[in-house]
Amino acid sequence: MTEKNIATKIRVYAYNELNEDQKILVDRAREATKGSYSPYSHFRVGAAIRLDNGTIVTGANQENASFPAGTCAERSACFYAGAKYPDVPFSAIAIAAWHEDDFVEAPCAPCGVCRQSLLEYETQGGKPVEVLLAGRDTVYVLDSLRSLLPLAFTEF
Ligand SMILES: [Zn+2]
Repeated sequence: MTEKNIATKIRVYAYNELNEDQKILVDRAREATKGSYSPYSHFRVGAAIRLDNGTIVTGANQENASFPAGTCAERSACFYAGAKYPDVPFSAIAIAAWHEDDFVEAPCAPCGVCRQSLLEYETQGGKPVEVLLAGRDTVYVLDSLRSLLPLAFTEF
């Protein structure tokens, strides 16, 4: 028997410690929560993806009375980016969430399905995508989407 350990490096920043590009992306993710359609969970999630061409694409969760028909903010953003800007790699993504009357305190992380979906765009782009998980005051920064999904399902 052998044992393998998987480590994920998370850098913890106060919002004000972020660089300007990071602040802009977090701000766009926070703004994107306004586009959420979440009458069931009342959990408004926004995602903002910066592409290598400088474009920022945003998305928000879209719920449905038939629950599986809805989609998360992260996938609404990455699928739109993939459809509108095929072959343009992602450089960074920020995610934020609003619940009741304020942004959530804990940094907001994507669900497993979104991690799998986002990872494919990182793989296609051929380089790591910076990840910014925004809480009310704290932002977790990770070096890649792969670091969010160790042992990912891949084609081979
Ligand atoms: Zn998700």
